[in-house]
Amino acid sequence: MSTLTADLNLTELRQGLLSRDISVLEAVEHASRRIQETEPLINALLHVNQEQALRQAEELDRQGPNPARTLWGIPVIIKDVLATKGLPTSCASKMLQDFIPFYDSEAVHRLKQAGAIILGKANMDEFAMGSSNENSAFGPSRNPWDLERVPGGSSGGPAASTAAGQTPFSLGTDTGGSIRQPAGFCGLVGLKPTYGRVSRFGLVAYGSSLDQIGPLTRTVEDAARVLRVIAGHDPKDSTSAPVEVPDYPARLAERPDLKGLTLGIPEEYWDAEGLSPEVNQGCTAALEAARGLGATTVPLSLPSSKYAIAAYYIIVMAEASSNLARYDGVRYGYRDREAKDLIEMYARSRSAGFGPEVQRRIILGTYVLSSGYYDAYYRKAAQVRRLIRDEYDQALRHCDVICAPVAPTSAFRLGEKTDDPLQMYLTDVFTNPLNLTGLPGLSLPCGLGEQTGMPIGIQLFAPAFAETRLLQIAWTLEQELPRLPRPSGLASR
Ligand code: GLN
Repeated sequence: MSTLTADLNLTELRQGLLSRDISVLEAVEHASRRIQETEPLINALLHVNQEQALRQAEELDRQGPNPARTLWGIPVIIKDVLATKGLPTSCASKMLQDFIPFYDSEAVHRLKQAGAIILGKANMDEFAMGSSNENSAFGPSRNPWDLERVPGGSSGGPAASTAAGQTPFSLGTDTGGSIRQPAGFCGLVGLKPTYGRVSRFGLVAYGSSLDQIGPLTRTVEDAARVLRVIAGHDPKDSTSAPVEVPDYPARLAERPDLKGLTLGIPEEYWDAEGLSPEVNQGCTAALEAARGLGATTVPLSLPSSKYAIAAYYIIVMAEASSNLARYDGVRYGYRDREAKDLIEMYARSRSAGFGPEVQRRIILGTYVLSSGYYDAYYRKAAQVRRLIRDEYDQALRHCDVICAPVAPTSAFRLGEKTDDPLQMYLTDVFTNPLNLTGLPGLSLPCGLGEQTGMPIGIQLFAPAFAETRLLQIAWTLEQELPRLPRPSGLASR
C-alpha cells in the first residue's frame, strides 16, 4: 500500500496509481499542496497549471489505469524553455513573458502521450544562460537543502522543484551542464542524453549544436523510465538521430555488479586546482564503492579539456547571438511602443526585453562571428571542439565509462559569483566538455559534503547512444551509495 509523501519517487507513485491505492486526483492535489507549501521558500516555478491538471486527473481516474501508458497520472514540472501548448513559455525572460505557444514541444508531447500531467513550468536562467538560476528575470530559485544557496543552473527551477518533492520528476535542458550541475547541487539524478537522442522540436534554441533535453529524477530507475518515453527519432528535428530506443527500465538490472568493468579517471578533473576537498572526498568514496562492486579504475588523460571552457563559451555565444536574432519586437515577444522608427524599435525592444547576461552573450557572440575575428575565435573553437571529441572517443576505447565530479564545489551562496561572470563560467568546467562532444552523461548523488552539508554529485560519461550502459552502471552503483535524507532547508515543511 503506497501512501503519498513528498519523497515518493516516480516508480513508487506509478505503482500506487496503477494499483489504485492512490487516485490521480489525490496525486495532483498532493503535488499542488506541496507547491503551495514550498514555493514561497524556493521560487522554483513560473506558472502553475493547477485547474487544467485537476481536470485531467479526474478524466484519467474516470478512464482507469492504463499500464501501457508508462507515465499514467504522474504530475510533472517542465523547464520554461520547452514549448507547452496553451501554457506560458517565457524562458524566464521579459522578452517572452506573454508568449503562449500553440503547440507542444516533442518531448512534452511524448510525456502527455505516456499519460503524464503537466502541472507547471519551472524557473531557470534567462534563455538557459547561467549556472545558478540567478539570471532569471523573475527572481532566483533557491536550493531546498539550504535556502541561502543556489540550486544551480540553468535548470535550477526543475532541480529545486523535484528536490522539494513538488512532483516526482521534471524535464530540464543541458547545453553546458544545466541538467547535471543542478541535479548535483540538489541531490538528484540528472541525465543528459546523447545529442540527437531526444528531439529538440519546440525547445527554444540557445546553443543548437549543444542543447539536449533530459530528466531530473530521484532515482536512476526513474530516469530510465522518462528517457524511454522522450527518446527517439523525430522528423521535425533534422538533428534527431534515427537510432532505436532500448527498453531502458527493463534492462537496468542486467548488471548486478560491476565486475569486469573499467572506469576511466581523467586527471584533468580529479587533480583540478579548484576541486574542493569535500567534493573530492565524496566522489572518491563513490569510486571506492564502485571498486567494491568489482570495477577497476584506470587513470587517463584528456589534455584538451583545459580549453573546453574557452571553446564552449565562444561556440555557445556565437550560436546564441544568431538564435536570439529572431526576438526583434516584430514577430515575437516584447515590443517597445515608444520608438519613432524601425531601428529604434529593434534597439529598444531588445534592450528592455533581454537581461544583462543575455545582452552580454549576444554582443560577445556577434563579435566572435564578425569578419576578421571569425578565424581567430569561432573557427579555432570549432577545431578545439573536434580535438576534445577525439580525445573522449579515444579514452572510451580504454574504459567503459569516464567518471568525474559534477562540479568543483557543492552549491554556492546566492550572490557569491554574480559580480564576476568569469567565475560563474568556470563553475561549468567539469560539465561543458561533454556537450562539446555530444556524448551522454549522468550525474548521481553520492552523499553530503563534510564542510557544507550540501549534496555532492559524481558524473559518468559513455559513448554515443550508450545510455543503457550509463543507466545500468549508475543503477548498480546507486544501491551502494548513501541515500540522502530529506532536504534540510525545508525541514519545517
Ligand atoms: N552554464 C552554462 C551556460 O551558461 C550552461 C548552461 C546550460 O547548460 N544551459 O552556458
